[in-house]
Amino acid sequence: TTRAEAPRRAEALAIRGVSKRFGATVALDDVHLELPAGGLTCFLGPSGCGKTTLLRLIAGLETPSSGRILLGGRDLSAVPAHRRGIGMVFQSYALFPHLSVAENVAYGLRVRGVGARERRRRADELLALVRLEGLGDRPVGRLSGGQRQRVAMARALALEPALFLLDEPLSALDAKLRSAMQVEIKQLQRRLGVSTVLVTHDQEEAMTMADLVVVMGEGRVQQVGPPLEVYHRPVNRFVADFIGSNNFVPATALSKGVRALGVTLPLTLPAGTREGDAVTLSVRPEKLELFAAPPPSGAPQGRVSFVRDLGQRTETYVEVAGVQLIAVSPLEFPVGAPVWVRLPPESCTVFAA
Ligand code: ATP
Repeated sequence: TTRAEAPRRAEALAIRGVSKRFGATVALDDVHLELPAGGLTCFLGPSGCGKTTLLRLIAGLETPSSGRILLGGRDLSAVPAHRRGIGMVFQSYALFPHLSVAENVAYGLRVRGVGARERRRRADELLALVRLEGLGDRPVGRLSGGQRQRVAMARALALEPALFLLDEPLSALDAKLRSAMQVEIKQLQRRLGVSTVLVTHDQEEAMTMADLVVVMGEGRVQQVGPPLEVYHRPVNRFVADFIGSNNFVPATALSKGVRALGVTLPLTLPAGTREGDAVTLSVRPEKLELFAAPPPSGAPQGRVSFVRDLGQRTETYVEVAGVQLIAVSPLEFPVGAPVWVRLPPESCTVFAA
């Protein structure tokens, strides 16, 4: 293993009761997180939820209003940004336009007093790592967006960070390249074993890359878990709505289940729910089952109101008891056709309304 492939150490990150206010704006409200060493964590959430602020606090580019951040058990409060052992890639890449690719990559090494020959050797090693071998002498101005992104990563990795932070690193790339880079960065991260935090508002990106997803909303952590757990077992309506698509159906709580769309479904109710309470049932489009005739189990009847054929999949919009549901179903129906919709209880989640 070369030095570039062996980060100094992978460190665990702990966030303890961190809040951040900008004047009257509460950007972060009492955030607690424990991120394991060597994993890739995605901070995922809509614009303005505080994810970039949290990343900047970790990097030391902002100071928390309260709370503490620990890296490898060490309190970072009094440690300035450049001494934290953290490498960061910015959304804009922030490369030095007047320097060559290799000089950009080796910039931090030069600041540290590493000699020219050793710098060049390390830069070439890092460029190979991000698949830019042979481009060291190019001016960065003559690189594509994807290549600049790789230079920014190589530069951040040059100092063998204990923690690698990426702020929406792929947002400037087109959809195809973005999707390819998601896989590439994930593979690089696995190979290096460097603890990594990536900020994104793209849930597919988080699902592709993350070992652990931190869903954020309104300055708070809404849910933390592996991607599929967050997808299949959202803890609240915010998460159910933000991750993937979902149907939300108004329902009434019964003693053991709910009544929705004129049928009774045996479902687990959220804690504290009483019979007669208004609740919301959520079910993913791909879990709804459509039938051309009433199924034996009994199911509410509706009518197809719209069909969206996307080539890879077809979304069928069904109007049932005044509620519009979206189903992704292998069966195709014409607009106006009667359909019966089964909501599989094992795929439904109930939230307090
Ligand atoms: P985006 O994806 O749009 O970058 P975000 O989830 O990263 O959003 P933040 O940039 O962390 O959100 O911002 C969280 C909140 O804090 C927002 O309301 C934002 O306007 C506010 N905020 C962030 N930085 C500052 C600042 N330097 N001064 C004042 N308000 C700020």
